[in-house]
Amino acid sequence: MRLSRYFLPVLKESPREATIISHQYMLRAGMIKQSSAGIYSWLPLGFKVLKRIEQIVHEEQARAGHIAIQMPTIQSADLWRESGRYEAYGDELLRIKDRNDHDMLFTPTAEELVTDIFRSHVSSYKSLPLTLYQIQWKFRDERRPRFGVMRGREFYMKDGYNFDLTKEDALHAYNRHLVSYLRTYERMGLQAIPMRADSGPIGGDDTHEFLVLADTGESEVFYDSAVTDLSFGDREIDYDNVAQCAGVMEEFTTKYARTDETHDEALFAEVPENRRRTARGIEVGQIFYFGTKYSDAMGATVQGPDGKSTPVHMGSHGIGVSRLLGAIIEASHDDKGIIWPEGVTPFHVGIVNLKQGDEEADAACQSLYDQIEGLGLEVLYDDRDERAGAKFGTMDLIGLPWRITVGPRGLKNGVVELTSRKTGESEELAPEAAIAKITEIYAAHGIGK
Ligand code: ATP
Ligand code: MG
Repeated sequence: MRLSRYFLPVLKESPREATIISHQYMLRAGMIKQSSAGIYSWLPLGFKVLKRIEQIVHEEQARAGHIAIQMPTIQSADLWRESGRYEAYGDELLRIKDRNDHDMLFTPTAEELVTDIFRSHVSSYKSLPLTLYQIQWKFRDERRPRFGVMRGREFYMKDGYNFDLTKEDALHAYNRHLVSYLRTYERMGLQAIPMRADSGPIGGDDTHEFLVLADTGESEVFYDSAVTDLSFGDREIDYDNVAQCAGVMEEFTTKYARTDETHDEALFAEVPENRRRTARGIEVGQIFYFGTKYSDAMGATVQGPDGKSTPVHMGSHGIGVSRLLGAIIEASHDDKGIIWPEGVTPFHVGIVNLKQGDEEADAACQSLYDQIEGLGLEVLYDDRDERAGAKFGTMDLIGLPWRITVGPRGLKNGVVELTSRKTGESEELAPEAAIAKITEIYAAHGIGK
């Protein structure tokens, strides 16, 4: 993409409504525009990152054997009356009437609808285990929408639902989700720590939230610092392997890590003092096991191997896809702007032409552009007739991990400059060497041809 032809409405000043850094940078980098409180349009750069995050979630869900569907955003209240949540959900539920005076609502989550799909089409244990998920817009009429996409009213969420014959099978589904979420967040360059949490209006027995540590997080968290040393890395997981998933689950959840809702001072005191941490965190996901709560209420049963009808065991699992943009920026930025991790960056490489209109510089940029795009990476080429300082400022603000700077002086010596956004370090390389290095870095993330 040539910047001169793109739509990147960057702002010089930080809008006053934005109080935290991720919100400020998302507005300044022209990623989102608020349309009303907690409701946003996604402008090209923001939309691109949203789609990158969504794609990682889809890939990791597929790897875990989960099946994508899409359910409607507007739902009839009837099903919600069956589960008892139409009233119980309270003011966060946006209730709507259609022209026939029928009660409808904008989905804040979809346990009822997916349970209805299940009970209409599945009658035998032979169809189990089954996990269906979607990535869909949700609406919750939050009392205090704030921090940009972090606490919106409309937000994009992955919600998944498992159906299993026994509690044991459903607990495997729970563990499988935990493992798959660890991997999902790591691919986004994030450390998200599973913490024992409280189940809230969804209800249930077992639940973990995934938290990204950040001073601006809304949750107070307490943990053993040893949990931050854990990393999923590139381990191979067989998601059908019950013992393996349980092992990873245990590894990542036995050390003390809790949100304030479930915090237990006495237990925390057992953690060695030098490892006790109190901090703030951003919730980027949550997994639940809730047994037969919805299947009992809505008659979702299957015929078991013994021929008897039995309610299915269920859980639900959410990832805050749009909130993740804010969380990633909170975790990865400096005073010049965003620093995108390679896994989610909107463009993989930025090219800055120091002398637009110079025949040699223009040709060198174009050649780099064509070659890098040809390797399956996306390039943002700043071809504007602007000062170098302004071009660097834009690149730093929008946070592309790698920048290639091309100017007549370097070209005379056969070199361009490759700069890491994260370290700020630059090296002069022949164009081919710069391309080789970038290709190698992205290949390690599974990106590129
Ligand atoms: P919170 O406690 O932050 O209100 P929640 O526990 O009610 O969230 P879940 O029902 O667990 O949310 O939804 C799954 C995920 O969706 C959350 O972990 C979070 O990342 C995201 N999410 C929830 N509410 C919002 C919101 N208002 N704006 C953006 N993302 C949200
Ligand atoms: Mg939650």
